[in-house]
Amino acid sequence: MSMPPASPSDSQPVRSTSKASKLSKQLKTQLEPELLRAVPLDRALAGWGRHWETPDSGMFNVDPKNYKLSQPSKSVDVFLSHDWASNGKQKFLSLLIVYNSRAAFLACLAVSVLVGVLRGYGVLPDEGWTVVIGHGSYLLVFLFWQRLRTLVCRPLTVFLDKLCVAQHDEELKQKGIEGIAAFLLSSQQLMVLLTPRYFTRLWCLLEMATFMKDSERQRSIHVMPLKTAVLFLLASGCWFFLAICWNVSSAVIRPSLVGSAKSAEMWSQVPILAGLMLLLSGALLPFVFYLGMGLVADLERIPRQLANFRLDDAKCFCCSNNHRHPHNGSRLQCDRKLVYNTLKQWYDDVESKADHLETFSRLVREELAPSIALLVGGVTLPLSYTVFTVGASNLPYLADHLAVWIAYVHSGSSGYALFAFTLRAVADWGTVPLASMLAVWISNPLLKAGLRLRSRWCATIVTQSIVVFVVVMVWAPTQVVLGLTEQGDLRPVALFLFWLAVLLALHSPLGTRGLASALGEKPGTIAAKGKEDSAMDDIVQEKTVATGMGREVAVQESLAVEACVFCNIL
Ligand SMILES: [Zn+2]
Repeated sequence: MSMPPASPSDSQPVRSTSKASKLSKQLKTQLEPELLRAVPLDRALAGWGRHWETPDSGMFNVDPKNYKLSQPSKSVDVFLSHDWASNGKQKFLSLLIVYNSRAAFLACLAVSVLVGVLRGYGVLPDEGWTVVIGHGSYLLVFLFWQRLRTLVCRPLTVFLDKLCVAQHDEELKQKGIEGIAAFLLSSQQLMVLLTPRYFTRLWCLLEMATFMKDSERQRSIHVMPLKTAVLFLLASGCWFFLAICWNVSSAVIRPSLVGSAKSAEMWSQVPILAGLMLLLSGALLPFVFYLGMGLVADLERIPRQLANFRLDDAKCFCCSNNHRHPHNGSRLQCDRKLVYNTLKQWYDDVESKADHLETFSRLVREELAPSIALLVGGVTLPLSYTVFTVGASNLPYLADHLAVWIAYVHSGSSGYALFAFTLRAVADWGTVPLASMLAVWISNPLLKAGLRLRSRWCATIVTQSIVVFVVVMVWAPTQVVLGLTEQGDLRPVALFLFWLAVLLALHSPLGTRGLASALGEKPGTIAAKGKEDSAMDDIVQEKTVATGMGREVAVQESLAVEACVFCNIL
């Protein structure tokens, strides 16, 4: 967290009353039941993320009513760790991806299948516009899943400093801040909303340290870099837009053929449609890739920071303001002493006589840095989120294919003819999602490589051209063969399966390792010598035991931001 207002944080003076100096010299690991609070995630996300905006630079004007949104709770599902100076909207969108995108994907899948069945049986008109229902369900669940799930099960509870630490009473506020370790120790999971600033803030580091101090809790660290979330949304937005344009254009050019089986007549229109899409892509993609390159450049700063990480370099509000309240000039207690004393309890290595600050700093450099480097370094974007955001763009069109399939069954087809028809329909529908997943897979490393070119626009054009070429190579041959072959011919299915195998191979440990080598990613250059292999395995196998400093480290499982996140969430 790193808090603003109510919290112990960098950006606010909260804890700085003279009364505070009489309080403990260590953070409390236990709190009074009334003060140990959590807020349902749907409330923390309410108002389009308004609780994630800082009311002013010093967080002096937080609405006291916010405290009533939280409730006393013996435990907290997720401790949301972030720094308040980073973009509030990006944090809101990152949380939507982490906690809502899977549910949105599944809801869209179920609704699209239902729409297809209802169209097939004549309950709904067999028309292309019905895919709007699938798109609408995705958007609805993506935006409001946390609120919807409260209708059927208990809400996910989170710690958000601004809502869980009292703002209206100085003494309560001080107790809450000094009890931050109690909140952390009561939390089941640490969700880090990562920015380049995160590892420079003392209170953020305390939060990370609380979860890194033992191997069991390390497994509960999850990381979503804010700029990675923006990359997902950018890619997803692009594919949703292109899919909608393709289908609308198809409906305009040959309205009578939407939803019916492909015919030679329709295939004659494909070159026109493809030309339209190329024009559209040519106009849209340069800007998208230019933005993406900026995001990747920002993410690249994080591994460089961590390579030389020292806890002593971290900043906090009190030290930055000379221990004087910026508004009234009163003396501020030093948060640094408080945090250091707490870390001493957890990281004092008596055997090696190592300094507790250096022990933690080494843990970050040697164990955490490699995983973070791979996560934000542009190797690949996590597959699960790619499926739930980008892959979802073509889900609603399942309804078209399903309606046609049902009509085919009603026409009396069975046996091999039905088998072949089904597989061809899957290949027809699945080509676009496949192409989109491959495009996303190659885009991130291409953007990273493009940063080495002097001109960003030049790199953008090169990257875009390669991505468009790959998409055409995946999509066009399958579609052409589908159009040129008879219904019983499975050659287009073979092509589809080939590209599917390529996608799975690229996401396998071997594929990721190969790409990392090609890009010159060497985790060991950031971490300790000899950890190159383990760092890479960690991220791709989602399960690792690293042994630096005699500690088991399995953070990578979480750091890979894979589907395990959802086990506790959905
Ligand atoms: Zn200080």
